[in-house]
Amino acid sequence: MGLLIQDIIPALGSRFEGNTQNGEIDNVSIDSRSLQNNNSTLFFALQGQNRNGHVYINELIDKGVVNFVVTHIPSGTKGKANFYIVEDTLKALQQFAAWYRNLFSIPVIAITGSNGKTIVKEWLNYLLSPDYNIIRSPKSYNSQIGVPLSVIGINERHNLGIFEAGISTTGEMEKLEAVIQPNIGVLTNIGSAHDEGFTGTDEKITEKLKLFKNVEILILQKNSRIEKLLDTKIKTFTWSFTDKTADVVLSAGADNTFNISHNNGTSFKAAIPFTDDASIENSVNCLMVMLYLGYSAEIIANRIATLYPLELRLQVKSGINNCTIIDDSYNSDYQSLKIALDFLEQQKNHQKKTVILSDVFQSGFAVKELYEKVGTLLNAHNISKIIGIGETISKQLSDFPGFTGYTSTQDFLAHLTDKSFEEETILVKGARSFRFEEIVVLLEEKTHETVLEINLNAVIHNFNFYRSRLKPETKIMVMVKAFGYGSGSYEIAKVLSHHKVDYLGVAFADEGIALRNAGITTPIIVMNPERSAFSAMVAYNLEPEIYSVGELKAFITLAQQKNLSEYPVHIKLDTGMHRLGFEENQIEALIDCLRNNNFISVKSIFSHLSSSDVPQFREFTLNQIEKFDKWSLTIMEQLQIKPLRHILNTSGIYNYPQAQYDMVRLGIGLYGVGNDREETTQLENVGTLKTIILQVKEINEGESVGYSRRFIATQKTRIATLPVGYADGISRLWGNGKGYVIINGKKATITGSICMDMMMVDVTNISCAEGDEAVIFGKKPTVVEIAEALGTIPYEILTGISQRVKRVFYKE
Ligand SMILES: *Cc1c(COP(=O)(O)O)cnc(C)c1O
Repeated sequence: MGLLIQDIIPALGSRFEGNTQNGEIDNVSIDSRSLQNNNSTLFFALQGQNRNGHVYINELIDKGVVNFVVTHIPSGTKGKANFYIVEDTLKALQQFAAWYRNLFSIPVIAITGSNGKTIVKEWLNYLLSPDYNIIRSPKSYNSQIGVPLSVIGINERHNLGIFEAGISTTGEMEKLEAVIQPNIGVLTNIGSAHDEGFTGTDEKITEKLKLFKNVEILILQKNSRIEKLLDTKIKTFTWSFTDKTADVVLSAGADNTFNISHNNGTSFKAAIPFTDDASIENSVNCLMVMLYLGYSAEIIANRIATLYPLELRLQVKSGINNCTIIDDSYNSDYQSLKIALDFLEQQKNHQKKTVILSDVFQSGFAVKELYEKVGTLLNAHNISKIIGIGETISKQLSDFPGFTGYTSTQDFLAHLTDKSFEEETILVKGARSFRFEEIVVLLEEKTHETVLEINLNAVIHNFNFYRSRLKPETKIMVMVKAFGYGSGSYEIAKVLSHHKVDYLGVAFADEGIALRNAGITTPIIVMNPERSAFSAMVAYNLEPEIYSVGELKAFITLAQQKNLSEYPVHIKLDTGMHRLGFEENQIEALIDCLRNNNFISVKSIFSHLSSSDVPQFREFTLNQIEKFDKWSLTIMEQLQIKPLRHILNTSGIYNYPQAQYDMVRLGIGLYGVGNDREETTQLENVGTLKTIILQVKEINEGESVGYSRRFIATQKTRIATLPVGYADGISRLWGNGKGYVIINGKKATITGSICMDMMMVDVTNISCAEGDEAVIFGKKPTVVEIAEALGTIPYEILTGISQRVKRVFYKE
């Protein structure tokens, strides 16, 4: 970066108050927890709902930070650092980023839309990286804060930028446009995400289009509604499956191939390696960018064919000799190396950490500088053993402690023995061309295991989706009862603790104790506290739901014996669910019990909606909310207290946002299942239950499959046997031709009865072999689809997956 303080002062529109204007800034930070090169950091003290950066300034000065963008100088810090005083620190950050962007004339691709922004960005990065030094938004940094931070990452060696922009209300896009100043625009799919911030879809589209007001070209799927709203000055490059007036028209052929005809007269074929509509749309948008950039049909087809799902990054796998493998064998750029090393550091199963790393690409740095930086990163992450594979890395890091170099993957594989790795966590990270998947195959433990893969990024996405629908100040309790709806309560709680979850909800005390033992410090409420567990709850700092006078008295007695003071409890009102809670005629007794009582303190008052997901019971639900409002106010007035109030579960958040009070309780939505189809499309799938084909056999017409001969072949049939059955939680009702699994992208019908530990599927028309993967549920079939077919609800299916099924968690 190397920016002079003298230049920064006007760029920020700030008044300077400090010791010296002779100095340089090398990086920018908004987060006091992650700093580098403190003395050349410019720290923006942002003021958010949850945090105020000004609070950390004292501490940061002690850590050596000298430059602060602030709205005022915090007391006691005057004279100790340089202050750039502005009216609004976020605005200053944006203005600074816009100024910084102007220092570079590189072309920039900007992506917006409701869905698919991050995927299109990551895929474009992957597709174009052989030819460009790309700077892109890290993760999904697409907000009012994320975009400026991304743009500030540009340096002299980058020759292409790819940034995503996301907005939730009007007026935001203009600011992002000024920061990004894009040349090429991509508009992905327009769904209904963030609808609540707009008066209608047209308004939302119009706002999104503001990102493109100065682009040389806008790429989008042909759509007359959007085109009507588009400024006619803006040139478009459109595609379509149906509308022959688009610039590029695609038609589907056999086996995922598409015929692509460009209105310049050329046409070619390309295979898109996905079957779901969303991934196909995202792939086509990428293909359009390549066409626009002048790539040949051959290169486009070759590269598009190798696109891969994003969730394949940073997969955690069990390895040989009790190792843990982190598989990141798809890319090796400097930015993602940092992310991967942070992820490696979070894995606590082994002390010993190993990195297998290929040559590093597209960093924007010269070779020597790059590997010095790689070395610094490796040093900072306490890696015991480093294996570098590639002509460059093997030379550049040859003197690094603990380093072994190989010139090629084949060279390394030739030296690999059974005993090369033991009891360690191994990050395998390489660019695609190094084919590190061959290394992973050899290091991976061979099991015929059924696993439930949990995508923690999707959990975060879903959490943020609901958070975006709430007022900024509304708190969120995340329900992790029943082992996190079957998805692992500790891991979910842990990942969300970084994302400001205010409360966790469990059903029983032992679930809360397990979370505490795992190191979770977030407040926890126990929904069904049994009296026998009161004492343990206090010992573990768990807060009870109080639903009756009897229970309340028992808890007060205990609080008195233990001499507790103001122990937090949560009062549950029964407004119509008729499960647990105080009814109207018990409220007086409740108030009497609570009056003048210092042993406990009412932390919150809440109720539960019985039918927030059923439109026909809207009246009933509104009535529940009204009762809640009235009763809770009575309690608050009589006792002169101001506890948190909450009544909404997932579908409540969606359908009755006006009743969000101080907090909501998010459950099923976090796990990827929404109130209805429309809402579910905004969520990301969290759990994928998968297994591996044990055996494939061919049977003749008239032969049967499974118990009681429930399936009789009417022709020659190929059958694959999978090691997963009803004891794993797959209902027998899903068998006998009703349900299916996905093998190699195709539907394989479940034939015959599902057995206790196995099931058989028809693979007559699927090319597959022993060891191939079968998906029981995930993106397809979805849990919702299975639940509907079986006449139950997704909750039952998710929580019914047996504990013997191993959970595997992954996260970017
Ligand atoms: C389970 C539960 C929730 C969450 O419900 P979802 O429909 O999964 O969002 C909220 N509140 C209480 C009291 C619950 O028991």
